[in-house]
Amino acid sequence: MTAQIINGKEIAKKKRSEIAKEVDELKKNHVIPGLAVILVGNNQASRTYVKSKQKACQELGMHSLLIEYPETVQESELLSKIDELNHDDAIHGILVQLPLPDHINEVKVIEAISPAKDVDGFHPINIGRMMTGQDAFLPCTPYGVMVMLEEMNIEIAGKHVVIIGRSNIVGKPSGQLFLNENATVTYCHSKTKNLEEHTKNADILVAAVGRANFITADYIKEGAVVIDVGINRNEEGKLCGDVDFEEAKEIASYITPVPGGVGPMTITMLMYNTLKAAKNFQSKLQKTK
Ligand code: NDP
Repeated sequence: MTAQIINGKEIAKKKRSEIAKEVDELKKNHVIPGLAVILVGNNQASRTYVKSKQKACQELGMHSLLIEYPETVQESELLSKIDELNHDDAIHGILVQLPLPDHINEVKVIEAISPAKDVDGFHPINIGRMMTGQDAFLPCTPYGVMVMLEEMNIEIAGKHVVIIGRSNIVGKPSGQLFLNENATVTYCHSKTKNLEEHTKNADILVAAVGRANFITADYIKEGAVVIDVGINRNEEGKLCGDVDFEEAKEIASYITPVPGGVGPMTITMLMYNTLKAAKNFQSKLQKTK
């Protein structure tokens, strides 16, 4: 079997054009969706991610505000900036680029963001809402995965989904979103024994490990859907996923490539969440009129 490639770039393009249309509609009502990004320090990867987020905002006609701090910034200064942004009507989404330096408490910073502007979907209120199946800002990468599957008409209900990875931003919320769609979910992690025995049972396998080409053909059931969240560099310094794409594509029914798979969906869903926050703001405005 040669797998059908799930083209994240194409799906992201389609979603972004839908978002751009909605942004235009909102602008007619004098609301320009605004995203504030806080960047601390000089981490090159963080800087690149932030640039892509700003570029996406510009392309979709959204307002983007970058606030930069040196590595030495005090936690109190960040918290007071977040408080100011929480009260700024031109800003509908606030994102603090992670990781933060060690002297800053990440949890405290995330919890300072108003849940109504938490477009990353990391605030415990949004996580709680997601877990109880209520309307919430969903974390962008797992949300992007779900949108890709929906676009490909891949059924989820009743499927056995195995997630490798249990981080708060990818693994755990991915499992929850699949559960919300009536899948049976297994989580694997670094303490899982006989990983292969679990992954071989997956109808849908999600790899969010952070290890280049870690998932080889031996881990995959014939006909499985393989979602590769990993972004790594191989020995030659080339971008690659957690899945050995060349091997896996001969076994899977569908597979996401790296690059061009999950990656483009993450920023797209951030834009979607920012639009949603702006729409919520606008409907609140209308109610108070
Ligand atoms: P983390 O490092 O936070 O989590 C990695 C997870 O993998 C942990 O739960 C860890 O287990 C598990 N793990 C590590 N080694 C093994 C192993 N040998 N067997 C089984 N499980 C293992 O990473 P993230 O979740 O933040 O990211 C994962 C990958 O996804 C990275 O490559 C990252 O760059 C990429 N990423 C991609 C995004 C995108 O837009 N496409 C967005 C975010 C991340 P344990 O909990 O026990 O330590």
